[in-house]
Amino acid sequence: MNNDSKIYIGGHTGMVGSALVRKLKNEGFKNVIFRTSSELDLTKQQAVKAFFETEKPDYVFLAAAKVGGILANNTYRGQFLYENLMIQNNVIHQSYVHGVKKLLFLASSCIYPKMAPQPIREEYLLTGKLEHTNEPYAIAKIAGLKMCENYNLQYGCDFISVMPTNLYGPNDNYDPETSHVLPALLRKFHDAKNDQTETVEVWGTGAPKREFLHVDDLAEACLHLMKTYSGNVSVNIGTGEDISIRDLAESIKTITGYKGKITWDTSKPDGTPRKLLDVSLIHSLGWKHSISLEKGIRKVYEEKFLR
Ligand code: GDP
Repeated sequence: MNNDSKIYIGGHTGMVGSALVRKLKNEGFKNVIFRTSSELDLTKQQAVKAFFETEKPDYVFLAAAKVGGILANNTYRGQFLYENLMIQNNVIHQSYVHGVKKLLFLASSCIYPKMAPQPIREEYLLTGKLEHTNEPYAIAKIAGLKMCENYNLQYGCDFISVMPTNLYGPNDNYDPETSHVLPALLRKFHDAKNDQTETVEVWGTGAPKREFLHVDDLAEACLHLMKTYSGNVSVNIGTGEDISIRDLAESIKTITGYKGKITWDTSKPDGTPRKLLDVSLIHSLGWKHSISLEKGIRKVYEEKFLR
């Protein structure tokens, strides 16, 4: 891979894709290409085939996916399964057909069994039942990483996949219904402060624990692996530290300066009790996160709400 390599970023308007574009441009890569979803619908086989035939990228980062928080995953179950399978089948297969030198597929930490021992090691994949709320998304992502693995085995491709933990950062989704917890809480506490609302409703019991990684750290890790790693083990990318939703809510309350109360809406699902990644593999491969959670939340809060 060099600065003139042609690199296609699938999903470049999303949080992960846009972080990859920023990172590659900062690192001096001059030939980064992308298409909006109206220019190229990745769920359409013929369109993806034509794109690869014309553009013939050398490297592919596949960050295009239908994503969302616990409620979106649990509501649009059919769409999460169908759209993700279509996107990844088309892009991975055409990457093989058109001789892409290397592809990186973004999977997710939710593909591990709900009751996996903590911290979760890469080899715990497919050792138990999945969490119900995001099972369709997880099944699609498992199919994607198995497709990479088996295209390597059958066709000698160099397709790798990564399992990022819960991400946050610029270009996140802040919709109160469909977003993930961290942006949802920033939005809720910020609005409550401005509107002087007495209480903020946070979903579930507050007991589940989650690990959060700033997307700029993820982009750095992905580029590092693209340059240095080949193999069939899908690599965990996280911080190796987690926090309860209760403590996260308190921390976001402090950061936003909201002075009211927190109430818990236990009619909403908790989801997986805990999903902390074991990050010893990626540490051994020469990468470690650098943005702490508190610093990252403050940065994102300022960029999104205070500018
Ligand atoms: P998950 O990691 O796939 O479960 O996805 P989320 O980020 O959506 O949710 C993580 C945890 O935060 C779950 O236990 C949610 O119930 C809890 N949570 C608390 N308040 C909110 C909220 O306002 N939005 C979301 N999405 N989750 C919330």
